[in-house]
Amino acid sequence: MKRIIIAIDGHSSCGKSTLAKALAKALHYAYLDSGAMYRAVTLYFLDNRVNYNDPDAVLEALKQINIHFERIEGQNRTFLNDIDVEHDIREMRVSEHVSPVAAISSVRRAMVKQQQAMGARRGIVADGRDIGTIVFPDAELKIFLTADLDVRTSRRHLELAAKGIDSAWDDIQKNLAERDLIDSTRADSPLKQASDAVVINNTLLSEQEQLHKALSLAQAKIKELSEA
Ligand code: C5P
Repeated sequence: MKRIIIAIDGHSSCGKSTLAKALAKALHYAYLDSGAMYRAVTLYFLDNRVNYNDPDAVLEALKQINIHFERIEGQNRTFLNDIDVEHDIREMRVSEHVSPVAAISSVRRAMVKQQQAMGARRGIVADGRDIGTIVFPDAELKIFLTADLDVRTSRRHLELAAKGIDSAWDDIQKNLAERDLIDSTRADSPLKQASDAVVINNTLLSEQEQLHKALSLAQAKIKELSEA
């Protein structure tokens, strides 16, 4: 069977990572959480007081940053300089700074290079904002996921609570709306739907229903390419 790249892009907290993880599991593919990489860079900048408005300071800091992923007890963990930061990168203080950091071209160049290396052998599901447009423009399946802001806010609220991170519903909604605005209006690699992406609006879909839709698309594409 031919191994493909599946790119999932969309607004903040619309269930991209839930779908990407489930697809990767069903297809026995690798999963790449590109947002975790921008979050890890942001965490480094905050903890080391790097002024990210200073291009030289950013370039210097990027040389000190090493990000990798590991699967531990069935969970994807993000490591920053060999320290497990999976919990810390989801905190609000990181969410509040990640979009301005991700708008910096030198940061994007470093992350995209690493992401492309991870997908070189295909057989990967990656989620983010520019996966189908910039990172893997030749991905065989591109999905653009979307959902209503209120639904996204409630889902994020529950997700954070489950991780023991307590935050107010209004603060979460404000953060999602702000990130969407910065992510879709930045000059470098803005969030936008690739022309060949399939749109899935999951406002009224269960996780199972959205997985079923996406998996059918993936299996049809794999079959088509394997028979070609
Ligand atoms: O996916 P997640 O919400 O964790 O991503 C955090 C932030 O990282 C996004 O709001 C966006 O600013 C940035 N990001 C990006 N490009 C990606 C993935 C994430 O700019 N491919």
